[in-house]
Amino acid sequence: MLSLLGKPVVEALSSALEEQLSLFKKRAGRPPRLEVIIVGNDPASHLYVRNKRRMAQHLGMSQALHEFPSGATADEVRSLVERLNQNDQVDGILIQRPLPSSFDLSDVARWIHPLKDVDAFHPLLAGNLLLGIPTLAPCTPTGILALLSHYGLTVAGKVACVVGRSPIVGKPLSAMLLNADATVINCHRKTRNLSELTSRADFLFVAAGSPQLIGRDHVKSGAVVIDVGIHKLPDGTWCGDVRSDEVAQKAAALSPVPGGVGPLTIFMLMRNVVLAAQSRLNAQQDEGVRRR
Ligand code: ADP
Repeated sequence: MLSLLGKPVVEALSSALEEQLSLFKKRAGRPPRLEVIIVGNDPASHLYVRNKRRMAQHLGMSQALHEFPSGATADEVRSLVERLNQNDQVDGILIQRPLPSSFDLSDVARWIHPLKDVDAFHPLLAGNLLLGIPTLAPCTPTGILALLSHYGLTVAGKVACVVGRSPIVGKPLSAMLLNADATVINCHRKTRNLSELTSRADFLFVAAGSPQLIGRDHVKSGAVVIDVGIHKLPDGTWCGDVRSDEVAQKAAALSPVPGGVGPLTIFMLMRNVVLAAQSRLNAQQDEGVRRR
């Protein structure tokens, strides 16, 4: 069985990203800039934010962190986002989730300007994705498609089953697979006979946020299985949404947890910052040409 490791994929894609980054620096006279906003003191969120900022620094981007206390109001955070939207030196903005329950998430999704929305939560970007229009796209599904492509796995014409329909993983992943010519089955909490559907899949993607949900009986022999879940067990070890010991005996390929999809998600965030920076610069230069 092939283990679909993420790190070699990141290594293979890094030099192209670094080239694009240095080209942007030359054209713009400054590095791309990422602004990270965090509300409250959830330790896991702070750890994720630290990793994102470290990766941005490592690549030579400029970045800043804006921390709000857990009691901050939506208006306070929104007015910062508006200032960053208007600042021409800012290329990418992200608001770390989860947010306090007083925030209306469907409203928050519209705050960041779509050209700067590197997590791609904006409804306009989701619409582009659904219609197959080139766009900034959510990082985890983009990473999953890059993982498949690196290992030479093609979904066109195949049956792909996605377990989970969250706005940041399951739904956009289903749209991307459909755009890549797969026949897509999207399962969710209300799905009846889950194993009957998942076991039809040549490609099975599990993003249910449910530890070890998927076992031997859910998987077709020779399937490619992508595990998007990550959970810390009481003994301190990690597991995914897939029972990897069972599934490894039946699948042709499986992404490990940790070390599979995870490394690609953060890499795609960095790529989105560079893409966002480039597309605003291109638009500005086109505008300059028109005015001349
Ligand atoms: P993630 O961040 O991994 O996308 P979420 O918690 O946001 O996770 O969403 C979980 C998704 O998984 C939901 O769409 C839900 O319907 C689906 N899901 C959760 N448990 C099951 C289950 N037992 N069977 C099928 N789908 C499930």
